[in-house]
Amino acid sequence: MTLTEKDSQYLWHPYTQHKTAQAPIAITKAEGALLWDENNKEYLDAIASWWVNPFGHSNKFIADAIYKQLTTLEHVLFGGFTHEPAVKVAEKLIDVLPKNQQKIFFSDNGSTAVEVAIKVALQYFFNKNEKRTTIIAFENAFHGDTFAAMAASGISFYTQAFQGMFIDVVRIPVPVKGQEQISFEALENTIKNHNCAGFIFEPLVQGAAGMVMYEPESLAKLIQICKENKVLTIADEVMTGFGKTGKTFAMDYVSEEPDMICLSKALTGGTIPMAITTFTQDIFDAFYDDDINKALFHGHTFTANPTGCAAALASIELLQTDEMQRNIERINKKHLDFQKKMESHPKVLTARTLGVIFAVEIKSDSNESYYGSMRTKLYNFFIDKGVVLRPVGNIVYILPPYIMTDDQLQKVYNTIEEAIEMV
Ligand SMILES: *Cc1c(COP(=O)(O)O)cnc(C)c1O
Repeated sequence: MTLTEKDSQYLWHPYTQHKTAQAPIAITKAEGALLWDENNKEYLDAIASWWVNPFGHSNKFIADAIYKQLTTLEHVLFGGFTHEPAVKVAEKLIDVLPKNQQKIFFSDNGSTAVEVAIKVALQYFFNKNEKRTTIIAFENAFHGDTFAAMAASGISFYTQAFQGMFIDVVRIPVPVKGQEQISFEALENTIKNHNCAGFIFEPLVQGAAGMVMYEPESLAKLIQICKENKVLTIADEVMTGFGKTGKTFAMDYVSEEPDMICLSKALTGGTIPMAITTFTQDIFDAFYDDDINKALFHGHTFTANPTGCAAALASIELLQTDEMQRNIERINKKHLDFQKKMESHPKVLTARTLGVIFAVEIKSDSNESYYGSMRTKLYNFFIDKGVVLRPVGNIVYILPPYIMTDDQLQKVYNTIEEAIEMV
């Protein structure tokens, strides 16, 4: 049996209707921006394997750091114990995060990073004997698949089976161009009419919605409104973090600082699952008490796994090299040129770029749904051409590893142009 045949016998894949889905592609090797399948077909990974892999696959520098840690201290429980890799990650992050971020809490993935932030927002007011139980989130947000993260998410594919079972979430429009005032007013009204604990948002770019972008000034205004009303703000940087937007964090573009930040995905350079939620001192202090009941009773078995921490340290070191910063700028310039070209294409609705993130919306007669027919046609075309892209409805986006070469990037652009002619 081939790998793919054995897979279909034993495995259940994420976001997959197994009855209608094609068999998965069995990847046996990866290096830099390239993947190879079991038949030795080559693919360009133009989405950094779900946005986790900025420094290239099978990166030797990160691998060495992991091996060294694995053979020194691979794991120790984090309840009642600590270790150097965790302390170093915290020190390093606090150095580069927005200045008000003072405390680091570890977990395992983007959803748990969000879960922790939402629970902290709710317990913050519980600890202060204030009744605030509503969370505010954007329309079409994506914050993960665990229950509170899913409640905050607004893409119906992911949440429809669970309606009525969620914590209280009120949704406001995203302040995309022309909708800013509507968004500000919706936030003000929501705060007036509900006991709001927190506002969670993907800063500047909504990834899973199809790289929907909005301006830093609008986000600053929304955060100001929250601050005036003592509503805690949660920046979900799980996708945007670690250079994707051209700065280390998307919040680096925004004049207001959030109360909490969620990190994962590129945190370990696409090697070991790990996540972090960061907090202000004020939030930490609301849990700091003689009363044990005010503590944050949340944790995961693998919290602050030293091997994951070693991978994170190596990744942050790579991100901070001049070479990687130049790569990010280089890709951004290429994207902007391609954006110009796409904007004048008769079959293109709009195109947009921020940092290494590029998205183009293709004109379509019908309302293209998330996993609709245009999406399937595009996806299959790209895979056939050996380019990994996962369109969202009629939106094709690129989020390449920063080490993708100009020639490789040009191949991605060419393939997208061919695809637009095809649909
Ligand atoms: C991917 C993502 C998550 C969820 O992360 P997982 O590791 O898949 O649980 C949360 N928020 C945002 C913005 C994401 O892009």
